[in-house]
Amino acid sequence: MSSPTRRRAHAGPSRGRRGLLALGISAALVRPRRAPAAEPIRQPAAPGPEAFMARAVEMREVALAGGDQGYGAVVVRDGRVVGEAPSRVVTAGDPTAHAETEAIRDAARRLGTRDLSGCVLYSTSPPCAMCETAAYWARIERLVHGPALADSGAPRYGGC
Ligand SMILES: [Zn+2]
Repeated sequence: MSSPTRRRAHAGPSRGRRGLLALGISAALVRPRRAPAAEPIRQPAAPGPEAFMARAVEMREVALAGGDQGYGAVVVRDGRVVGEAPSRVVTAGDPTAHAETEAIRDAARRLGTRDLSGCVLYSTSPPCAMCETAAYWARIERLVHGPALADSGAPRYGGC
């Protein structure tokens, strides 16, 4: 456990709320994002790669039904779906809200950690370079994509 002095030395001088406001920086910008109340994830009756990909395809259907791009993804750890998401690029107006990245964010929120070691990311399409890099930083173990369950192995930094 680091002392406050040591933490300050590492993170730079603490400006405090008044210091941020003096710099024209809203305190809301540095406040951690709160996780919205997540509904429990419905687990497949017979867990396995086909069932996990089927759930990713369901997420794709959710995206299409909502008027978004046709992509879906799930994150699996120890045989359980721990994160899932459709593409939200159009509905959220966020060019980075690809299904894979959204599923990674969902898993991190639900598990309460940014370390997704041991997780497998199932995606309806081959992940783009951004999503593969996000999986790398999240320490996702393997990428599996497409209805044929193609195994892309471990994510690579900046790989594509
Ligand atoms: Zn992507």
